[in-house]
Amino acid sequence: MASLEDLPIRDDLRGPKPYRAPQLEVPVALNVNENTHRIPEEVAIDVVGSVAASLIDINRYPDREFVSLREALASYLGDGLTPNNLWAANGSNEVLLQVFQAFGGPGRKALGFGPTYSMYSLLSLTTGTEYIDSPRADKYELTADLVTSAIRLHKPSIVLLCSPNNPTGTPLSLSVIEAAYEATKGVVVVDEAYAEFASDISATSLLPGRPRLLVSRTMSKAFAFAGARVGYLAADPGAIDALRLVRLPYHLSAFTQAAATAALKHAQLMLRTVADIKYQRDRMSVELGERGFEVFRSDANFLLFGGLKDSDEAFKELLAQGILVRNVGIPHTLRVTAGTESETTRFLEAARNLAKL
Ligand code: PMP
Repeated sequence: MASLEDLPIRDDLRGPKPYRAPQLEVPVALNVNENTHRIPEEVAIDVVGSVAASLIDINRYPDREFVSLREALASYLGDGLTPNNLWAANGSNEVLLQVFQAFGGPGRKALGFGPTYSMYSLLSLTTGTEYIDSPRADKYELTADLVTSAIRLHKPSIVLLCSPNNPTGTPLSLSVIEAAYEATKGVVVVDEAYAEFASDISATSLLPGRPRLLVSRTMSKAFAFAGARVGYLAADPGAIDALRLVRLPYHLSAFTQAAATAALKHAQLMLRTVADIKYQRDRMSVELGERGFEVFRSDANFLLFGGLKDSDEAFKELLAQGILVRNVGIPHTLRVTAGTESETTRFLEAARNLAKL
């Protein structure tokens, strides 16, 4: 096999590492913030039926405008949104890629507030956009002052606000988003991958009158549909037209469209595990706090906790007990997804002996 060194690859791709959260077979996988509950059987049956029905026309390309799916997404989100305000792709990662392709690129900057979702810098790299990582305040919080001064300093074309933030869980208030929007001439992307777990209302409520605001969502987390790869975005129809310029023709397969549209018909049922996941998150927060770990405020389905002697050692210690969590590279911390009640119990038991700072 040739090494990258031997290939005529772009110079800026020599050195960087690909996205590589480990995919290991373990009894308790709490590492990539999935919903660890399976989808209800009733929904599964409906999804299978819809996918099977889509086979009849599988000799034809799928609906390039995925109208039924956009209708289903608009009615799921509410807030007066219509299908013209909706867009979708194969996971919100692809939605974000399209945003970078349309609004980023050579000579342009994307601004994120680290630590934040690791794909922002990778998407910047692959689209030739300069990525600016501006630090968060104490305990990873963001304030309007911090965000607006970074925007004025760097003049980005894309501002990335992850709400709640991955990997820290930090909630973000709508007033910070409004201030960011006023301060920039670029687009403001609010990445709401974990919105269903949050107590704040969605930034979709801010869309009227803000054509440069893009709210990105996913079916991978609360909706328990990560394997289907469906992410979406709500915005002004003009911004959606910009994404049409960069998407590949027929990017959403007929199977994906059928599966997602069927699942959205059962939104209430699909989201029935959210309350329990939040309960397990809060349970972990209290128990880890009582044991002397520093636990950061989280509005998502995961927690970042600190005070570990050595993150790598703690990661290995948990893995030896069959529990996979995530070392996100913040010294002395680990990130853990809230699982089912029994998974959470197993994690908390295994975490009992982790060495503290
Ligand atoms: N945004 C954030 C903040 C995420 O954590 C993730 C997944 N880890 C994504 C976007 C992408 O998710 P997907 O492509 O599955 O929609």
